[in-house]
Amino acid sequence: MANESPVTGSAETFLVDEAAQLAFGARLADCLQPGTLVALHGDLGAGKTTLVRGVLQGLGYRGRVRSPTFTLLEAYDTTKPRFCHLDLYRLADLEELELIGIRDYLDGDWSVWVEWPQRVPELLAQADADIHIDYSRGGRRVHIEARTASGALLLEYSA
Ligand code: ADP
Ligand code: MG
Repeated sequence: MANESPVTGSAETFLVDEAAQLAFGARLADCLQPGTLVALHGDLGAGKTTLVRGVLQGLGYRGRVRSPTFTLLEAYDTTKPRFCHLDLYRLADLEELELIGIRDYLDGDWSVWVEWPQRVPELLAQADADIHIDYSRGGRRVHIEARTASGALLLEYSA
């Protein structure tokens, strides 16, 4: 890896169906550290929310996981880490993000997973890992890029 590159590694996997997507998310939960910010990239319907559902299952959450399409933010009182799910697709302006209390979730206790992170470049810039999800052969190709040590932990569980 080039010394200049801030990326600490990457990994790619193919997930054949929704069950595989959920199971993959659950595996990622095993190594998820408080404070880890994950940027989720992919078209509508790519499976970003499904992956988050899997992570939450892996963290032991058994309740319903709603897409934060309209609420922008859903918080889950899981332990180690607590979990925050953002969907910025419908975000109107940065002020709205402040109003939902985004700062409280960036204090290091929470792992924050963000759909449509490019809507807020300041947030995207802070990501520990980028997860790109693309349609492929009826399933999904998932590519993880780590930017920091806590992001790189996700790679170990993604092989
Ligand atoms: P997004 O949040 O990216 O808009 P969703 O997670 O809501 O997407 O999922 C969209 C659809 O894709 C769901 O119907 C889900 O069952 C399906 N899906 C998720 N992962 C896979 C996969 N690996 N292979 C096939 N279908 C999948
Ligand atoms: Mg979604």
